[in-house]
Amino acid sequence: MKRTVLITGGAGFIGSNFVPFFAALHPEYEVVNLDLLTYAGNAAHLRECDVLPNYSFVQGDIADVPFVDALFRDRDIRGVIHFAAESHVDNSISGPAAFVRTNLTGTFALLDAARRHWMEAPNRWKPGYEGCRFHHISTDEVYGSLGETGLFTEETPYAPNSPYSASKAGSDLLVRSYFHTYGMDVTTSNCSNNYGPKQHREKLIPTVIRHALAERPIPIYGDGLNVRDWLYVLDHCKAVDAVYHRGRAGETYNVGGNAEMTNLAIAGTICSLLDALRPRACGRPHAELLAFVEDRPGHDRRYAIDASKLQAELGWQPEESFASGMAKTVEWYLGPGREGLGV
Ligand code: NAD
Repeated sequence: MKRTVLITGGAGFIGSNFVPFFAALHPEYEVVNLDLLTYAGNAAHLRECDVLPNYSFVQGDIADVPFVDALFRDRDIRGVIHFAAESHVDNSISGPAAFVRTNLTGTFALLDAARRHWMEAPNRWKPGYEGCRFHHISTDEVYGSLGETGLFTEETPYAPNSPYSASKAGSDLLVRSYFHTYGMDVTTSNCSNNYGPKQHREKLIPTVIRHALAERPIPIYGDGLNVRDWLYVLDHCKAVDAVYHRGRAGETYNVGGNAEMTNLAIAGTICSLLDALRPRACGRPHAELLAFVEDRPGHDRRYAIDASKLQAELGWQPEESFASGMAKTVEWYLGPGREGLGV
């Protein structure tokens, strides 16, 4: 019988890139995608999964303990790859409660259902469940902010500054505790900013494109010089697959693209691509629409990732260059049916 792997949050940005990639790569698994379809989930992004015989979708809340328990029992879940989260920092400032519920309580509900379904007692697996793995997707934002130099490694102390990153940090620590307390097989990956198709319109790249196409001011927080490391979403998906299958139990792996960019540079790159692909009627550059707006409170200045552990242990490397990945991304957002960028 096929082993059933539960993927949470598969209708979101990264999840909806991951699910079709993973289900097609691993016909030996049954893939169950559990997603609540919040404002951030988009079932239309999963249409390509309709042709996959080993794929099914379940709508539900990861923080609903009886529901999650029943799902583990009824579908005999034997692996978890956990993407579901409230993920937008601005929303966590205006409404942090949902972040605590989904990111902390939801992660706990999944972890504990896995423990009860897979294990008889601490450090004792139910026969046949040995090696069932729980992989948790996290962010580099848990490490806080860097100065002008340095990189986040897996040893960097956690110092989250927003309710979003604090809730993710808490969930990472819960995952860690299930390894040390119960001997459960867990892994965590902490990734930098992803870009690519299917991202929600609220995030930086879709916002820049949407505003540029509508001839509206393109909002840039503060002085635009906050630095993030950027990784093409499919490279992240490949890293998750590598850690899920080959990472060491109890370990965390940083994932990054070696592509540090300021927000201003990202917006400028997108504007230049749009100048070539969709010139303005007036003939002037899109970059003249860039407009600085008041900074986000607690806005971390710089994130940068050292992904050498993942590279050395599992041989993972980003395959997409920033230039080619960003060109693919902008072309996708200009594709048919995406005019309003309600994606
Ligand atoms: P997203 O907001 O696009 O998608 C989140 C998905 O989770 C949505 O489909 C939503 O419907 C679902 N969801 C939310 N609450 C739920 C609940 N209670 N029960 C079930 N499903 C629920 O997020 P994303 O950008 O795809 O991020 C996915 C994961 O990767 C998150 O854990 C995030 O912290 C992490 N991450 C994201 C980035 C990035 O750049 N986007 C970088 C590093 C890590």
